[in-house]
Amino acid sequence: MRQVTVLGSCGAFPEPGRACSGFAVDWDGYRLVLDLGYATLPRLLTHWPDGAVDAVVITHEHPDHCIDLHGLFRMRFYGDSGGPRLPLYCPPGVLDRIGGLEPDADLEAVFEVHPLPGSHRMGPFDLTGLSLPHYVPNAGVRVQADGIALAYSGDTGPTSVLAELGRDADLFIVEATDREGETSRPVRNLLTSTEAGHWARRAGARRLMLTHFWPGNDRAASVAAARLAFDGEVLAAEEDLTVTLGTTDH
Ligand SMILES: [Zn+2]
Repeated sequence: MRQVTVLGSCGAFPEPGRACSGFAVDWDGYRLVLDLGYATLPRLLTHWPDGAVDAVVITHEHPDHCIDLHGLFRMRFYGDSGGPRLPLYCPPGVLDRIGGLEPDADLEAVFEVHPLPGSHRMGPFDLTGLSLPHYVPNAGVRVQADGIALAYSGDTGPTSVLAELGRDADLFIVEATDREGETSRPVRNLLTSTEAGHWARRAGARRLMLTHFWPGNDRAASVAAARLAFDGEVLAAEEDLTVTLGTTDH
């Protein structure tokens, strides 16, 4: 089974019944989490009821991408530990944020930390984290195995690095925050859905999944805008949506 399941699709703060950024990747039994924003942990535990996870990747330190990592830390710290530490790939600021919530506990008791940006071998995957423009250091990530690539932007402004990150990806998950007046801001730290489509096309990705929708946005309009810029399949992230990776089911 090779698939990615959306844990949360909202940017900034969650809408009712939804969650912020998070994705659960199943790859032939290997379990990988990409981001753990507000309200994603209960959804992760619904998806994997035993709570077992093989690795976690966090793109950046904003809470809509990392705050439920704290809950996962507590599960491991206070709950059933004793197993190996959980590999965690993230920029250093993520550890600062979570560590600030646990001033008297050692995060490294639970996590085996690997820095992003950077390249790592992670279970079955080659993991590449590339720096993308945001208010704080953000690592867009690409995981690849058997010639199949899944790429995810985290939060980003427009940059040609996105074309590299999502090069020929089977699925490119790109934030489409679509904030009011985004394209006229003097410094760009987030994208519109049109730009997400543009960069997916530049990357040559097979499929584009829009995510990180600003609460209240018209998601159908975002998808329609992206479709004008990208010829491939455009999906909207939706809580509990599962997408098969690769061209065949495993
Ligand atoms: Zn965000």
